[in-house]
Amino acid sequence: MKTVMTASRSNRRGRKFACAVICAAVAMVAQAATPGGAEAASYDVIVAGGGPAGIGAGYTAAKRGAKTLVLEKSGRLGGMAVSAMVSPFSLATYSPIAKEIANKIGFGRSVDFHLADVRAYDLLKEAGADVMLHADVLGPVMEGTRVTGVRVHCVEGERTFKAKVVIDATGNGIVAAAAGVPYEEGRAGDGLVQPMSIMFTVGGFDPAKRFICVSEEHARSKHCIVNGRKWEDIVQDEIKAGKLPPEVGVIRLYPGREKNLNVVNATQVNGLFGSRSADLTKAEIAARKQAAQIVDVMRRHLPGYANARIAEMPAVVGVRETRRFEGVDRLTTEDVLSGRKREDAVARRCSFVIDIHNPAGAGQADGHDKAVTGGARRVKPYDIPYGALVPKKVDGLLFCGRCLSASHEALASCRVMGPAMATGIGAGAAAALAVKQGIDVRAVDGRKLDLFPAK
Ligand SMILES: Cc1cc2nc3c(=O)[nH]c(=O)nc-3n(C[C@H](O)[C@H](O)[C@H](O)COP(=O)(O)OP(=O)(O)OC[C@H]3O[C@@H](n4cnc5c(N)ncnc54)[C@H](O)[C@@H]3O)c2cc1C
Repeated sequence: MKTVMTASRSNRRGRKFACAVICAAVAMVAQAATPGGAEAASYDVIVAGGGPAGIGAGYTAAKRGAKTLVLEKSGRLGGMAVSAMVSPFSLATYSPIAKEIANKIGFGRSVDFHLADVRAYDLLKEAGADVMLHADVLGPVMEGTRVTGVRVHCVEGERTFKAKVVIDATGNGIVAAAAGVPYEEGRAGDGLVQPMSIMFTVGGFDPAKRFICVSEEHARSKHCIVNGRKWEDIVQDEIKAGKLPPEVGVIRLYPGREKNLNVVNATQVNGLFGSRSADLTKAEIAARKQAAQIVDVMRRHLPGYANARIAEMPAVVGVRETRRFEGVDRLTTEDVLSGRKREDAVARRCSFVIDIHNPAGAGQADGHDKAVTGGARRVKPYDIPYGALVPKKVDGLLFCGRCLSASHEALASCRVMGPAMATGIGAGAAAALAVKQGIDVRAVDGRKLDLFPAK
């Protein structure tokens, strides 16, 4: 018995050793075959985050000759548009490259969130970029005040990728925050951010009776009548009856991709931060519970909706606002109200309204922001300067998308996907130029990014 035991232990040891050798060999092969593997761990440009801004950045940097890697923590490119099913894509800026990308990948009035991510992947690959999904960027590698790469949690373990320029397109500014770039979060006064929301789709209704309500103004207008009553009044009665939480306020129903779908933009969770996991957990659950209550209201009130049901739920809750970093320049509230033009524009003629979903109640945050905006929601078409993507104190780093340098009110306009993508395109162009000229991104002349056709 003893002899048998010894033999089997030694067999086990032998098997373990053989397994370790095979595993190491497999890991080496895998490392060599994947982007950032043994022979390719160094890039000109690394883009952290594959949302609208990250796609714009990766596409442009690669297209302009930089060896580029896009790292995305989820399994899908597209950011909020795909993972949070945010629709429509609001171009709301003059950016021919953003328009071209959006058309190619299926970002439109109704985002094709089933396949836009695959098309974005193909587009990035065609441009020459490497893409790695399930690659959660943990923070920068730094030499003094210079970012020289990123640390990434890959499924196989932690890895490091080196780069001449890192573009932070994570929305939350994961790299910039860890690199020590100062930032603000929340509005002046109470520090609250815009609410998080789950957008979802509803089906199961009579397509001939599809009901559309695009905004608060629409809900309270004569164009949004249900059984002789304004849609807003019906929703308010449901709130009074305790069937909906007060912060829901309005149920916006956009057209879906097909006639038998509505995109629903109505859930709202206040007082929580999209930059904290514990808050995100609460928001995920609360907003999904609201979705069920909203469908119940639709079933009881909307003609043809008696059998309406949730058709599609997103993977993650939608986050409108978190960190806003300190750049060498800043997009101010005054800039968007006065329509300021910039010589180093990365996005021209941005036109989306100052859309501040109330961080402390329902509807728009008109009251709180009156002191700053005079109650205005409309902007005068304005430009976003390159300097709003360049951190004040850290080298080798740019940020873009919804974590750029902007006031709370200015971000409420430029956070939509068109401008977000345009800032990514600007960052990608600047990064490629910096690599070509052998200079730091902060030395790049923002007037020479070649983003718009010559007049
Ligand atoms: C409810 C709601 C409604 C909206 N409505 C509209 C609308 O009607 N029209 C419109 O145009 N816009 C709308 N927006 C705004 C818009 O969706 C976002 O502001 C825009 O997507 C910002 O783009 P982004 O690329 O900066 O960030 P995101 O879209 O947030 O993309 C960031 C990407 O980075 C990835 N990432 C994050 N952390 C890491 C990490 N550590 N490592 C690697 N990857 C990481 C994320 O997974 C994500 O893919 C809405 C937003 C919300 C929440």
